[in-house]
Amino acid sequence: MKLVVASNNPKKRTEIATILGTLGIEIVASEDTVFVDVIEDAGSFSGNARKKAEAFATANGLPALADDSGLCVEALDGDPGVYSARFAGPDASDADNNRKLLAELAGQDNRSACFVCALHLAFPDNRQPFTAEGKVEGQILEQQTGTGGFGYDPLFFCPELGKAFARASSKEKASVSHRGRALRSLAEQIKQHV
Ligand code: IMP
Repeated sequence: MKLVVASNNPKKRTEIATILGTLGIEIVASEDTVFVDVIEDAGSFSGNARKKAEAFATANGLPALADDSGLCVEALDGDPGVYSARFAGPDASDADNNRKLLAELAGQDNRSACFVCALHLAFPDNRQPFTAEGKVEGQILEQQTGTGGFGYDPLFFCPELGKAFARASSKEKASVSHRGRALRSLAEQIKQHV
């Protein structure tokens, strides 16, 4: 199967392409993809993923896979959640968001958090979509560490790997990450039905 990835985030695109590549799914290069600006206002990871996937499938005339993901912090009642990319403001950088997260958790003993990823694969002919979710539990560190990955990876300690995501190789991260888990589940469904 050949599909477009409905994301403007190059690091996210690379993670998705790397994992799906090993599963025999062909990704259309970004220079051959028609990009659409989608307002992520659905209020849930799955709703936002659906909006993005449907818009890209229509614009490209090809199956489109969208990932909506984020960090849910227990002590912040699940925030930043669907607002993870914009936690520190509409044009926030990863560094801004990480600084804000550390400030919000200053003096907080409960550092439990999880990453959640909702995937939606939409088809241009309105065939039944495929959906999947993945989750990984972890702890928010007191300070940033490592240079790998993106987003909150320098603050996310993953007990399954025994290190921060930003200190893991891309293969290690994919083996346990919310995105890796969701993508493997989606690929299983694709293999069974397509
Ligand atoms: P989205 O593009 O609206 O789905 O925003 C996802 C945001 O959640 C990113 O900008 C990151 O801040 C955060 N995020 C999602 N997945 C990851 C990850 O694998 N590592 C670190 N941060 C992530």
